[in-house]
Amino acid sequence: MNIKPEEITSIIKGEIERYEKKIQTIDSGTIIQIGDGIARVYGLDECMEGELLEFPRGVYGMALNLEQDNVGCVLLGSEEGIKEGDIVKRTGKIVDVPVGDELIGRVVDSLGEPLDGKGPIKADEMRPIEVQAPGVIDRQSVREPLQTGIKAIDSMVPIGKGQRELIIGDRQTGKTAIALDAIINQKGKDVICIYVAIGQKQSTVAHIVNTLKEMGSMDYTIVVSSTASDTAPLQFIAPYAGCSMGEYFMNKGKDVLIVYDDLSKHAVAYRAMSLLLRRSPGREAYPGDVFYIHSRLLERAAKLSDELGGGSLTALPIIETLAGDITAYIPTNVISITDGQIFLESELFYAGQRPAINAGISVSRVGGNAQIKAMKQVSGTLRLELAQYRELAAFAQFGSDLDKESKNRLEKGKRLTAILNQGQYNPMPVENQIMILYAGVNNHLMDIPVLKMSEFEKEFLEFMNTHHRDIGKGILEKKKLDDELKEKLNSAIDEFKKIFLA
Ligand code: ATP
Ligand code: MG
Repeated sequence: MNIKPEEITSIIKGEIERYEKKIQTIDSGTIIQIGDGIARVYGLDECMEGELLEFPRGVYGMALNLEQDNVGCVLLGSEEGIKEGDIVKRTGKIVDVPVGDELIGRVVDSLGEPLDGKGPIKADEMRPIEVQAPGVIDRQSVREPLQTGIKAIDSMVPIGKGQRELIIGDRQTGKTAIALDAIINQKGKDVICIYVAIGQKQSTVAHIVNTLKEMGSMDYTIVVSSTASDTAPLQFIAPYAGCSMGEYFMNKGKDVLIVYDDLSKHAVAYRAMSLLLRRSPGREAYPGDVFYIHSRLLERAAKLSDELGGGSLTALPIIETLAGDITAYIPTNVISITDGQIFLESELFYAGQRPAINAGISVSRVGGNAQIKAMKQVSGTLRLELAQYRELAAFAQFGSDLDKESKNRLEKGKRLTAILNQGQYNPMPVENQIMILYAGVNNHLMDIPVLKMSEFEKEFLEFMNTHHRDIGKGILEKKKLDDELKEKLNSAIDEFKKIFLA
């Protein structure tokens, strides 16, 4: 065989030339424009959508716009000191966050970096923030209740494990309070909770963390915080990061509850990013894919099939409305994605009904399947009675004469509304809820003055838990009210009423 040295050298030369080109075009690029947290980078030919890019000074960015001659990216840190002409390197991976047990009890930012000063997090695994949601075969229907401990919710808009239930209302109507109560109520129930704060004040987040600590709920909770002072991209990725942390536990067969507080600010952060990236604006200046950012996030809530371990991820997204307008763009989007909504009204809030839930337009499309039978038995007519009461109350305002039946209905409605009032940080076990609601819907409370309702409730439950423990236990064991339990309940209620009214 004849070997020609010229041939070999030309091949080697060619290889070297191509090799250098590769390095230049695939692994790094140069910044051609930077400002407002956005950079345009030339030369990242093989860059992936959503890829993590390394900028100078240890700042990271995320590639979002893959255009013909440049890549538009958002910076996840400060752009200070970074200038045009600087080198940007590809990392070859999608943005990911640490996941695992080490995160429980911690407060972290959108990238999983600790914010609570308790030292670094030694997580054993990283997980991309954007993951395909479980498919149809991987899921099973929602069948176990996720008790929030709030009477009005557990009875009328029940939430099941794996469900997505929207909490929607104007500012300062108790949206966060409901989510926090739901987290507090998971104590001792082997549910991991994740609270994602998006675009909130730092003081608000600090207050929430303190509350959770005081209630002993940080032991099973992760707080992912992106405050109003964080850049829009950090606010944008926070819910995805929180969701990935939750999915880790779900895939291990555990139950997870995640709260996104709130997705209105998430949409606003995404709008800011999109406009700066010069994507074309649509309705209310939101980009065309604003529906998709929420649907792909909420689709990740699931109840997994038994083959996959049967874990669940329950999502409670929060949306803030303006003047109760649920027909605005973002509220309608999220309403259509979720399995129901809890609608809070300022009017009810100021009238003293707290939680200020409007039972008329609040629904839960799947949670009813998950309710225990005993709860279904007492709540069956509750919705209807309250609806009739509201109609009558509006009518009775005009001072017209009412017949006896209407008067009765009015009085009963007042009492039921009073029972559904509940203070903050005061979740109630399901058997207690059933006992007091049973008394209410079965006309046992008609001779108790409305103003004494909360006092009655408190003392009644104390009485039941000291003298008739077997009834509460029976409800939990049988999960339904049979004739024996009903009889016992009736006589216990009569017994207590005699003491109370004396
Ligand atoms: P924002 O729009 O600012 O996020 P929000 O809708 O999340 O407000 P919260 O912060 O939860 O509302 O509650 C507003 C106020 O109402 C708080 O001061 C809270 O303590 C009070 N509050 C909420 N729920 C109840 C309740 N069930 N009983 C008494 N007070 C309540
Ligand atoms: Mg709030």
